[in-house]
Amino acid sequence: MVSSLSGRGALSKREKALIGLAVAVTVQCLYCIDAYRNSCLENGSNMEQMAEARHLASAIHGCASLIHGIQLHNAQDGFRCKSMDTGVQITRNGKPMLLESPVDFAENLGGTTLRSIGIDTLQVNVGKLCNQACKHCHVDASPIRTEIMQRDVIDACLAVLDKYKITTLDITGGAPELIPDFRYFVTEARKIGTKVIVRHNLTVMFEVGQADLCEFFAENEVELVSSLPYFLQQQTDAQRGAGVFDRSIKALKRLNDVGYGACGNMVLNLVYNPVGAFLPPDQAAIECDFKRELKDRYGVSFNNLFTITNMPIARFLDWLRRSGNMESYMDKLINAFNPSTVSGLMCRSMVSVDWTGQLFDCDFNQMLELPIQSDRPQTIFDFDMEAMQNRRITTANHCFGCTAGAGSSCGGAVQP
Ligand code: SF4
Ligand code: SF4
Repeated sequence: MVSSLSGRGALSKREKALIGLAVAVTVQCLYCIDAYRNSCLENGSNMEQMAEARHLASAIHGCASLIHGIQLHNAQDGFRCKSMDTGVQITRNGKPMLLESPVDFAENLGGTTLRSIGIDTLQVNVGKLCNQACKHCHVDASPIRTEIMQRDVIDACLAVLDKYKITTLDITGGAPELIPDFRYFVTEARKIGTKVIVRHNLTVMFEVGQADLCEFFAENEVELVSSLPYFLQQQTDAQRGAGVFDRSIKALKRLNDVGYGACGNMVLNLVYNPVGAFLPPDQAAIECDFKRELKDRYGVSFNNLFTITNMPIARFLDWLRRSGNMESYMDKLINAFNPSTVSGLMCRSMVSVDWTGQLFDCDFNQMLELPIQSDRPQTIFDFDMEAMQNRRITTANHCFGCTAGAGSSCGGAVQP
């Protein structure tokens, strides 16, 4: 109903967005405030007009609205926060903001330096274009991002995979399927015998030109890793956008129809991440819940469930700040530090490549622009296995997200 009323009518889209913002502040809904703030900016309102709308609502509703409206001023204190459609990477002095923490991650390792033990996975982030714009996205991906990997970078990745016989290519994004050379990348990697994992968001299969995506995945025996924050609509849509849950279930059924999620080579793994400022529950227990509920409610099957901790960077960090949860979430991560996860951290056995070919220790460091050890190759074009092995991993306080509780990695808990 909201979307049908928000188009052009007697009131302009801009006026409606301002009204929506005022109501959102009044009813104190963080997600609505977020959505209408973006809508106001997109439709031409400035911060002054948005503040006036908020003041009017506050005057009518009283002090409670006034206090909750303060979150609109998240451009203060030297922070910069762009609208969701262009990314909400929080920057300070032009660089992605690193999390302040009362405890330093490197010191917490007790003097041990985190080092690579070898490379069995090349994780390639092919760009920031995505058909969704999820609240927790650490990539700041969205439909209007233009960063896309070009053929020369893809060919350099393929050459490295072939030369060093790296066993796994892990393709992520954005929605990787949306870049023009996605299918070329997958088929060429399969020709040289590389196992291919695609981080597939499910709903992209309903985009133009993707009607045969399930069959393409099946033909190439691509292993799929797909996010589904919860087996209920409300929680999933709150994080990933209205209508995403229904389309995700429809997509899972299609994948099941071509053989994904049963025994055999067509592996379909799901990802659970908390819808809020808390740590994931026990992976095995919630996998049982997901398997039972998805089967009983929708007739859907999958192979494994990975629990992943929300990393305090980009959009999720922005939400933590605005909702007043940043310090308590950081305390949770620090207090749950588990030293036995350190040896299994994913950065120790992989290298991450960005859409331009730049190398990083992991996708999170990539988003934070934390460079790889300076005296080692910096791009895929000058990759050298010997130089990359035993390199020192660049860490910062966001790394507490990988070591909390059972640990977190692209393959789920570090300690199952
Ligand atoms: S589907 Fe994935 S890449 Fe796209 S916005 Fe959501 S979290 Fe980000
Ligand atoms: S964020 Fe996690 S994977 Fe990345 S460097 Fe830190 S510990 Fe390693």
